[in-house]
Amino acid sequence: MTVRVRFAPSPTGMFHVGGARSALQNWIYAKQQGGVFVLRIEDTDAARNKPEWTEGILSALDWIGISRGSYEGPHFQSENAGEHRAAAARLHDSGRAYYCDCTREDVQARTGSQYQGYDGYHRDRDLGPGVGHALRFRTPDEGTTVVVDLIRGEPTFENRLIEDFVIARGDGSPVFLLANVVDDMTMGITHVIRAEEHLPNTPKQQLLWDALGVKPPVWAHVPVVVNEKRQKLSKRRDKVALEAYREEGYLAGAMRNYLMLLGWAPSGDREIVPWSVIEDEFRLDEVNPSPAFFDEKKLRAFNGEYIRALPVAEFIDACQPWLTGTGTIAPPPWQPEEFDADAFAAVAALAQTRITVLSEIVPNVDFLFLASPLIDEAAWTKTMKDGSAELLDAAVAAFETLESWDAESLKSTLEAVGAERGLKLGKTQAPVRVAVTGRTVGLPLFESLEVLGRERALTRMRAARLRLV
Ligand code: GLU
Repeated sequence: MTVRVRFAPSPTGMFHVGGARSALQNWIYAKQQGGVFVLRIEDTDAARNKPEWTEGILSALDWIGISRGSYEGPHFQSENAGEHRAAAARLHDSGRAYYCDCTREDVQARTGSQYQGYDGYHRDRDLGPGVGHALRFRTPDEGTTVVVDLIRGEPTFENRLIEDFVIARGDGSPVFLLANVVDDMTMGITHVIRAEEHLPNTPKQQLLWDALGVKPPVWAHVPVVVNEKRQKLSKRRDKVALEAYREEGYLAGAMRNYLMLLGWAPSGDREIVPWSVIEDEFRLDEVNPSPAFFDEKKLRAFNGEYIRALPVAEFIDACQPWLTGTGTIAPPPWQPEEFDADAFAAVAALAQTRITVLSEIVPNVDFLFLASPLIDEAAWTKTMKDGSAELLDAAVAAFETLESWDAESLKSTLEAVGAERGLKLGKTQAPVRVAVTGRTVGLPLFESLEVLGRERALTRMRAARLRLV
């Protein structure tokens, strides 16, 4: 038997990190089993689907390493509508489903209590197909449905507690539960690896497999992803779109490594490991069923490590979208012709050790390309105190006559200027840094001055000095 798994997102919004996690787990499982990964876009919710969401899913998958052309599909659920309707008709013909036109109010009027599910009124009064008649599945009165789940053991559901659920609406259109099963069936899916949120659907879906006479797949419900308050990640509350992380400058390698740690860990207390180790060591049945905490701080720290591990040339390449502004990444504050690739290359290694997401490159290097620095007013007020004007004058005078404009000479010269005033280097540097870069924190000052060049550095120091009059 060839293992066939599928990832079946609905194109109703930005692609979610939890979805990316499930996709990767499916992907690795298929690879380990010598199986096939199928991508199926569940596009039957016409009101909420948009083609750009589908494109977003494809490109997000591509980004994390599930590249176009390397899997089966994408198939589209809407293309299988004929099969969905045929399955609904088969279930009716075989007596496993019946038509009903009850509203909630009807049921409530009959049961005289709060609505607690359908009461089975039309079980023996099948209305047959017709406008406004919903098709309901006749669930067994007794027995249990045992779901074989690689992560959760054998969750067991009592059939009498499962109401006769709707499988096709009053307009004849099949609902998700049925369409999803029929697609898995026609696509020969052997293992359904999906989010825990779908576990309550599973006994109903397994009953449909049985009723349609096909052996159900093996299930694996991977843990729900939660925030620090243990709430399920939600797009209203949390940053969940993979695209948002990408735009902020998370590396795909860091992202997919981190996502695989949601509910699982490689051997030997390791967390940051090459992808090949994850592909070798990951075991679906070792995934912890408890909710998995998506720790953005930890992901950020991971990303910093991945950034530092890049060869400098690759780091320079990786920064390009933020240096130029491409796609949905905003352009930097400088004009394209102001950018100087050599100057950037000269400070890249210094920046690489300081940033944790690639977008942070911009505020670290903008002073090199802008005609005058973007002054952070809070930093200015905090730094420019009594004595700063005189200090800047002295620094300008010393720098003007400096023989060699290099980081080391700049440092010893400024150190001497400070020493004459009883100041430590840190205190002496601060006004110079704000004058030249506009900020109190950033790349090492003397290397920055060296790359910036004497003329521009002195012009900025003089301009700051004038502002202090
Ligand atoms: N389209 C469903 C979703 O996005 C997929 C359900 C499944 O994987 O079975 O949640």
